[in-house]
Amino acid sequence: MVIGICNFDIVCNLRIVIWDFNAVSGKANRFYLNQLELTLTNPWVCLYLIGEKMSDRKPLIAGNWKMNLNLDESVDLVKTLIGSMVDLEGVEVLVAPPYTSLATVKNAIGSARILLAAQNMHWETSGAYTGEISGQMLVETGCTHVILGHSERRTHFGETDEMIDLKAKTALLVGLIPVICIGETLEEREKEQTFEVIKRQLDGSLGSFRDDRVSSFSIVLAYEPVWAIGTGRTATPEQAQEVHHFIREWIKGNFGAETANSLRVLYGGSVKPGNIKDLMSKQDIDGALVGGASLKADSFISLIRLGES
Ligand code: PEP
Repeated sequence: MVIGICNFDIVCNLRIVIWDFNAVSGKANRFYLNQLELTLTNPWVCLYLIGEKMSDRKPLIAGNWKMNLNLDESVDLVKTLIGSMVDLEGVEVLVAPPYTSLATVKNAIGSARILLAAQNMHWETSGAYTGEISGQMLVETGCTHVILGHSERRTHFGETDEMIDLKAKTALLVGLIPVICIGETLEEREKEQTFEVIKRQLDGSLGSFRDDRVSSFSIVLAYEPVWAIGTGRTATPEQAQEVHHFIREWIKGNFGAETANSLRVLYGGSVKPGNIKDLMSKQDIDGALVGGASLKADSFISLIRLGES
């Protein structure tokens, strides 16, 4: 395979990222050379490369508005986003307003390329569940995605991995893409239990439905260390990457290399314009799930632009 002029940057441990620009399609593919020892004397090189092509995972920047923004504020924010996104091709944008704003926000989105998510749903399709919302109801309001297992739901509302598994399966059946959140608490991290917790959450929330419903396009994972959510304390890119890599290896072991390579794993936890670039420079970080910084147009737009591949 012939690579034209290649720009490289050293991300860490002599990992060299090579961009292959296709003049016909205008798209760029990424290749990685790992553990390559080179004496680097010149910042520009021409290479002939036979290498493994990495995935074409499109970055996804998702705004979780939680219990914030009224109807007018939500519509204003969406309209501002739309106005600033006309030239953006290399990134997907998703907003998750409160239930009561979903239909209005969908109307404001119109035909613009913004995806709509709810922040939760029930696993049953209908019935005597006062105060709950079904997946089918979300589809009817125009949702394409639903956030499941956010740590605030786990902590404040007692959601378990088993409940998230049930919800995820129902979401897929009604045509919603679940954005499944996992992440360890500070105590668990300090006790060095991070990988054990992540494995348990993956086993519990995804493990029982190893069938063809889990494909590259039908599920998104979000690694959100609980200690980084709304605290201003972000995982370092290295801390995040090692967990993302662990998650991708778990997916590979359970669903195969193709799914692992195409499934997007977002990072969430105090993501801001000042740290998103470093986080997303990591090989296994495919975007961000953002709370606070998605509530203001200027920071959300910066995140979207910085997250564009
Ligand atoms: C979140 O709510 O998923 C989140 C990551 O919040 P914040 O960006 O405010 O930490």
